[in-house]
Amino acid sequence: MSQEAPSIVVVGSVNRDLVTILERMPAGGETVHARDFLQSHGGKGANQAVAAARLGAKVALVAKVGGDVFGADALANFRAAGIDTSHVGELPDKPTGTATILVEPDGENRIMIVAGANGALTPADVEAAADTIAKARLVLLQLEVPMETVAAALAVSARVGTPVCLNPAPAPDSLDAGLIGPALRFVVPNRGELALLTGLPTESEADLAAAARALLARGVGAVVVTLGAEGALLVEGEGEPRRFPAARVRALDTTGAGDAFIGAFAARFVHDGDVEAAIRNGAAFAGLSVTRQGAQASYPAMALSDLGD
Ligand code: ATP
Repeated sequence: MSQEAPSIVVVGSVNRDLVTILERMPAGGETVHARDFLQSHGGKGANQAVAAARLGAKVALVAKVGGDVFGADALANFRAAGIDTSHVGELPDKPTGTATILVEPDGENRIMIVAGANGALTPADVEAAADTIAKARLVLLQLEVPMETVAAALAVSARVGTPVCLNPAPAPDSLDAGLIGPALRFVVPNRGELALLTGLPTESEADLAAAARALLARGVGAVVVTLGAEGALLVEGEGEPRRFPAARVRALDTTGAGDAFIGAFAARFVHDGDVEAAIRNGAAFAGLSVTRQGAQASYPAMALSDLGD
C-alpha cells in the first residue's frame, strides 16, 4: 500500500471476466465443445483504477470482492498495480462479480453479468472512505454498483469538496435524475449512454452538442463524449464544442477502451488540471489499448509524459 494520499478514488465494480469462444451457440438442453476459454480481470471500476495506476497516479479503490479465488486474485492484481486496497472489502458469503461472455465466430457476444459482491457495496462503505475521498483530487464513478451507493459517493464527495467524474456505463435503464447535477465536475458517456441519459438524439455533431448542453443545464461542469474511432467531444461553458481525434491505429480489440480513456483522463486531470490535455492523454492511452487484446491486459505501464502531451 502506498504511504502517499491517493489523488484518485474509484468507487466501483470488480469483476472476473470468463470468456468462452464457441463454434456455435448450444440450443436448450444441448452440450457443445467450445473452441477456447479465457479469463481476465474486469469490472469498470477496477479497469479505470488500474488504467490510472499504470500511468503512475496514486489510486484508492472502494469496492467489494467475494471470499473466493477470484476475489483473492483481484486483490493481488490491485496490489501489484500499486492501488490502495484498504477500502476493498472481502465478503466470505458472496461470489466476486463475474461477466460470463460467450463469443461466436462472427464476433457476436452474449454477456451475462452477476453483480455478486458488487451488489453489496453500500453507502456505509463509501462513508467509511470519506477521509480518503476528502484528500483526493478526483472521484471516479460508474454504474456497476447499486444506484444508492453511486448517490452516496456523490453526496460524500460534494460534502468534502472533491470533484467527481461519472461514466454512466453500462447504459442505465433508468437513472435517478437527481444524480445529474452540480456535484458532477465531468460526465463521460459514449454516444448511446448520452442518448439514454438525456432522451435526446445523438446522431449528428449538432445532436451531440445539444444533448451535452442538456446535462450542462442541470449543473454538470463539462461533458466529454467518447466516440470510438471518431475520438471525443468536449462540451463545457458557453464556447463551441471541441473535437479531439482518436489515435490513428489498427484496432485489434476495443474491449475496455472507454475505461482506458477515463483512467488516463483522470491521471492527467489530477496531475495538472488541464482538461484538454487530459482528453488528449485519454485518447492516446485508449489508442494504445485497442492495439492489444483484453482490457487491463492492454493497458501499458508508462509515464504520463510518454503519452506525448
Ligand atoms: P468500451 O465499452 O469498448 O470500453 P466505450 O463505448 O465506453 O468503449 P468508445 O467511445 O468506444 O468507449 O472508446 C473510448 C475511446 O477509446 C475513444 O474516445 C477513442 O479515443 C478510443 N478508441 C476506441 N476505439 C478506437 C479505435 N478503433 N481506434 C482508436 N481509438 C479508439
